[in-house]
Amino acid sequence: MSIVKSKKIWLSSPHMGGTELDYIKEAFDTNWIAPLGPNVNGFEEDIASYLKDEVYVAALSSGTAALHLALKLVGVSSGDFVLCQSMTFAASANPIKYLGAHPIFVDSEMKTWNMCPDQLEIAIKSCMADGKKPVAIVAVHLYGMPYQVDKIHKIATTYNIPIVEDSAESLGSSYFDKACGTFGDIAILSFNGNKIITTSGGGALVAKNASVKEKAVFLATQARDDAPHYQHSEIGYNYRMSNITAGIGRGQMKVLEKHVSYRRANYDYYRKHLRQIENIEFLDEPEGFYSNRWLSCILTASFEMREEIRNALAEENIESRPLWKPMHLQPVFSGCKSFTNGVSEQIFKRGLCLPSGSNLEEDDLNRVVNIIKKVLL
Ligand SMILES: *Cc1c(COP(=O)(O)O)cnc(C)c1O
Repeated sequence: MSIVKSKKIWLSSPHMGGTELDYIKEAFDTNWIAPLGPNVNGFEEDIASYLKDEVYVAALSSGTAALHLALKLVGVSSGDFVLCQSMTFAASANPIKYLGAHPIFVDSEMKTWNMCPDQLEIAIKSCMADGKKPVAIVAVHLYGMPYQVDKIHKIATTYNIPIVEDSAESLGSSYFDKACGTFGDIAILSFNGNKIITTSGGGALVAKNASVKEKAVFLATQARDDAPHYQHSEIGYNYRMSNITAGIGRGQMKVLEKHVSYRRANYDYYRKHLRQIENIEFLDEPEGFYSNRWLSCILTASFEMREEIRNALAEENIESRPLWKPMHLQPVFSGCKSFTNGVSEQIFKRGLCLPSGSNLEEDDLNRVVNIIKKVLL
């Protein structure tokens, strides 16, 4: 006899809005089944107008592909050093390696969990003292919380180092009313299956001028020169988004604002019901910071407590996940330099991402809260 389990609650599952299939059907009806077409252009326009800034968007096959091209376009090449937020998903750092460059990891601060301005400046000075100025900075708005934009960009400007803004988790977030995805010299977005909107898989590069976007599209479509035959003077990639995928994206853009409000409501629910518990901390928004609350995270008092909660949730068929393990602690990056202050290691050990999908119901949230209370009270 099998045991009937309670309904599975996922960490963050896809949430379709309803109009996605219309765009896909249109693509089928008009036979635009290619890595170009009206949905690709339409999706790019939708994103650009959503970001409400003078930006030029290139829809690509993934956020990782977008980071790869962004780093290349800001001038990273083999042997260079690139400063990268340590507290992030591996996809922020891997493309540095694709280019034969060396990541140097920078720790976080407690206000946003993102790149610490002090550590960033220490890292830059140290690299320069060694005679090797970093050529780019990868800054991340983790879990939707903007990094300290003013401070980080001021340092970047002082030392004249371009910023690649990893906005994969923060579409819908803003910093003093300016959208995340518009701050970096180049920014990137992700539409992977678990992100705030999804195209099943996909990403975008957000450029500040048309020529950078054109160059990104050129590289993403095999770097084909303008000639009747196939001619190439540069190494290209196959990184363009397909017209089918972009159709999903167009439908998803219509529900992005709703997704943000549902995810923010999840966070508010958890906070309201758990904040009085002594050993649970939340990451509230500093003034002017607006998070899409892609994932709702808590900090527990200890690694053991985090594991107790995670296991109790898993027991009840509820998916939760430790925060990203910092890059400077990853085996694959063990040979890389890092500038650390202990913050990312602490929040990794004590932090837990709770179910955060925009399709969760109050019953689901209530189940999560009750299990956590049972563990801790
Ligand atoms: C998801 C993610 C990426 C990569 O995006 P993909 O579309 O999955 O390739 C990069 N950086 C961060 C911080 C992410 O969360």
